[in-house]
Amino acid sequence: MTRCLPALLASLLLSACAPSPPPTQGTVTTDQGRTGVTGYIRYWPGDLPIVLSVPHDGALAPAGIPDRTTGVTVRDSHARALAEAIRDALQARFGRAPHLVVCELSRRKVDGNRPLAEGAADPQAAQAWRDYHGAIDAAEQAVLARSPHGLYLDIHSHGHPKQRLEIGYLLKADDLRLTDLRLDTDATVAARSSLRALSRRTPAKFSELIRGATSLGGLLGARGLPAVPSPTESLLNGDPYFSGAFDIEAHGSRDGGRLDAAQLEVPRMLRDTPEHRAATAQAIAESLEVYFERHFGTRLR
Ligand SMILES: [Zn+2]
Repeated sequence: MTRCLPALLASLLLSACAPSPPPTQGTVTTDQGRTGVTGYIRYWPGDLPIVLSVPHDGALAPAGIPDRTTGVTVRDSHARALAEAIRDALQARFGRAPHLVVCELSRRKVDGNRPLAEGAADPQAAQAWRDYHGAIDAAEQAVLARSPHGLYLDIHSHGHPKQRLEIGYLLKADDLRLTDLRLDTDATVAARSSLRALSRRTPAKFSELIRGATSLGGLLGARGLPAVPSPTESLLNGDPYFSGAFDIEAHGSRDGGRLDAAQLEVPRMLRDTPEHRAATAQAIAESLEVYFERHFGTRLR
């Protein structure tokens, strides 16, 4: 989102932060992370070309910040713990950590995954919103300083009946019901997805990138995590489905950003216990290894 929030903001954010040692290869960043102006946002820098964010699992609800009066305020339970498990699994597998950005302020007060006008009604909440996006911008810049590309995953929890991961690429259910032929020949579909840049880089056809065997959903499904879209899971009429929202619009490649992006909505059974989170994180780490090699042409280790 560097085109929306000036780079100056990211540098101000970091200069205002509590000191944090640079991450060292082979070690997990275990400190409290860097914080922005408000102290409600934590950013643990990493050294993989992967950025994780958790906008909806904040527990802090100070009385001095009024509750939002419009929009969804439900907390994404276990989303932060899952993101931390994913970071640990990536660290263990690749010897390097992803960047991790967490909003610790309750969704009742701020929603980073919505435009500012909807996500924050109060000046302090608005500053937390800016800190959150400034931290993701800083992570994006750190990735791009080392790599020409990278992947941004926005981590959420869903309560839908079907216990499967919902992977959002900003494509609506109707787009996902198009034939492979249409997906592969109508370039406007890829152009409105959060994988726009990757769709031009990968040797794979667009249908494979979003629902084939080497799509994120296909790789996760092969490792025991049902996901949609994927070769085996599709959207029936009436299936609830999260296609992605402001975070991946702002930081993904659809509108010219250089990171490709997906929103990961995780069902309860894949995030509710430490064992389930570890298994989910392990499958994600294995899948990303194949995904990066196949689509980005990059080895993560
Ligand atoms: Zn959410």
